[in-house]
Amino acid sequence: MFAVYLVLGISLQATLSTACNVTIISRDDWGARPPNDHDHMNTPVTAVLIHHTDRDHCTTKAACTQELKDMQNFHMNNQSHSDIMYNFMVGEDGNVYEGRGWNTVGGHVPAWNIVSMGIAVMGNFQRGPPNQVALAALEGLLGCLIENHKLTPDYKLYGHRDVAHTNCPGNSLYDVIKTWSHYDSGKPVLPTKTPSQI
Ligand SMILES: [Zn+2]
Repeated sequence: MFAVYLVLGISLQATLSTACNVTIISRDDWGARPPNDHDHMNTPVTAVLIHHTDRDHCTTKAACTQELKDMQNFHMNNQSHSDIMYNFMVGEDGNVYEGRGWNTVGGHVPAWNIVSMGIAVMGNFQRGPPNQVALAALEGLLGCLIENHKLTPDYKLYGHRDVAHTNCPGNSLYDVIKTWSHYDSGKPVLPTKTPSQI
């Protein structure tokens, strides 16, 4: 009986990982507050902006969950955002956390919000990159967004500093993403329309 259960468990896990090779923790699961407002985002979008949160690092789900709650409160209470700023957050526990999520306009970079996914790795990466599990989770999320038709397969990847005057996502994380195939080293051009709007 135990053996049967074990085999079933493995096959279910394999099915999930084939569809989307990353663990995404839902808003309900990390205890997000409901947003004050939200705007629907037309997808797939053609660009991704990478951020760091410039706040505490976390390496366990419990610590990341607490940090997310604190960050969401800060964004909503102190910075007057309608919700946590990013579409997704990635922890050094190897999990992806749903922020505004798949279909909602972010609040991470004015003008770019409606045409890009904003993804933040949790921590400050000015003097050292995220750990390997966080980088693997970030890459897994990017693949998952394509599989779910939220991101075009030929999307362009930028660091926040490429489109605004900021250190974000930190020198070390920026050095990592610059080596990725979708990174666009040209002058970023703001997409004016997403495919579903054309
Ligand atoms: Zn940023």
